[in-house]
Amino acid sequence: MAAVQIPAPHSIAFLNRRHRLWIDGEWRDPRGGFQDVYDPASGTVIAQCPLASAEDVDDAVRAARRTFDARVWRGMPAQERARILWKLADLIEANAEEFAKIEVLNNGMPIAFARWMMGSCSHWLRHFAGLTQQIFGRNASAAMSGGGMQVHAYTAHEPVGVAGLIIPWNGPAGTFIIKVAPALAAGCSVVVKPSELTPITALWIAELAAEAGVPPGVLNVLPGLGSVAGQALVDHLDVDKISFTGSTAVGKHIVKSAASNLKRVTLELGGKSPCIVFDDADMDVAIPGAGMAIFANSGQVCFAGSRLFVQKKSYDRVVEGLAKFASSLKVGSGFDPETMVGPLISEKQRERVTSYIESGRRDGAEIVTGGGAAPGQGFFVQPTIFANTRADLKIVKEEIFGPVLVATPWEDLDDLIRLANDTRYGLGAGVFTTNLSTAHRVADRLQAGNVWVNTYGLMHPSMPFGGYKESGWGREMSTEGLEAYLEKKSVFMAL
Ligand code: NAD
Repeated sequence: MAAVQIPAPHSIAFLNRRHRLWIDGEWRDPRGGFQDVYDPASGTVIAQCPLASAEDVDDAVRAARRTFDARVWRGMPAQERARILWKLADLIEANAEEFAKIEVLNNGMPIAFARWMMGSCSHWLRHFAGLTQQIFGRNASAAMSGGGMQVHAYTAHEPVGVAGLIIPWNGPAGTFIIKVAPALAAGCSVVVKPSELTPITALWIAELAAEAGVPPGVLNVLPGLGSVAGQALVDHLDVDKISFTGSTAVGKHIVKSAASNLKRVTLELGGKSPCIVFDDADMDVAIPGAGMAIFANSGQVCFAGSRLFVQKKSYDRVVEGLAKFASSLKVGSGFDPETMVGPLISEKQRERVTSYIESGRRDGAEIVTGGGAAPGQGFFVQPTIFANTRADLKIVKEEIFGPVLVATPWEDLDDLIRLANDTRYGLGAGVFTTNLSTAHRVADRLQAGNVWVNTYGLMHPSMPFGGYKESGWGREMSTEGLEAYLEKKSVFMAL
């Protein structure tokens, strides 16, 4: 394949390489062949994704197991692991602009979002670098002693072992770091399976991690098909933990497969998050806030605020305002600094989203703005808003994972809470109100792992992130995210 010609300043050396698998500290040819990688904004092929076979996964798991059992990484002084993770953060920062361009080119996200994402990667890595020296248990000696027996009792927190980390395509570098940073901070050895659609930034970070000092075999990165490489990782008896981000359907399948050796499992899955506007909201905040809650990253965000609930008196005004806001958003290539809504990741995803729009139309919901694919070579879909929806419609119940919002008026607070919680998911929720008591009362009653008031989608490494109900198991980020990679041991010693 000819090297892709990205117009200056978008020529990126790493992108133009022949990509291979990163196993045991070296590049290896994949045994599963290659697959085209696309620029979703133009529909052109930009690279070839190496596809790991089950044998490749086995090689990577063996390398990870060897390093874990030999305590190559977990036995390293915590401050040394911290120094290496910090150095990796510096290397990513030094290359942040090139990384951001790859994210735009391969995922389609707007460049400003990609820059924020890459800055966050370094920030999150440094956060977990700091936590390497905060891993310790508790002393229960005083509670245990008595009756003539003196006991020294304590808990030790140990890395869980070899962790298999499976990530999606919608935030390739960000989701990679959200898993890899706490896993390495905990002392695990890891095998990462990035999405076959967006493998490139993960492979580059693997190489930089080696430059930063991560020993061979501790971090292995193998793109590949979910049904082949992902499944092989989940089935592998030498993998102690799976952390998965992706669809609820695959998450449920992984739970069954992980039963083989009762691997620990963390799941970050789908969502159908409510965004609630009260009459007393500051509409200059609420309208763009609710708009970007759904249209950011073209709705390809697990916590996208895809169900809008507006208090009746303000309903027409908010829906009209949102329609105006949505139609003002520039849809186009993420490289255009004016672009607010990039393409969807693939032709398949565009078809999936437009078929949901068609089903809404067929079911009698009213299209207020948008309503189909947007023109252009790429996989674009217009920001779309439906009104006059019902709770039983497919577009209201199912995760669409595209720029499609369904709007519903509400009058009674109890009804609102029932409607907002009437979903099998429970990832995020937005509340727009200027009344502090209302905000706290509603936050208390929402079944969601993350509630945002007068804002939407904020994440911070000191705050846990994850979902209620079918949005997942466990939490990422923060000390909870670190603990997901730790086992607890109780030690009792009679003195
Ligand atoms: P997906 O479930 O199809 O794939 C996710 C990853 O799992 C990919 O790497 C894929 O190759 C792999 N995979 C697929 N089948 C597998 C199998 N049998 N065994 C092991 N691995 C397998 O999801 P997607 O389409 O890539 O991503 C979109 C979904 O991810 C949406 O539902 C979205 O809500 C969810 N998501 C959730 C979060 C979160 O934090 N909760 C974040 C981003 C995306």
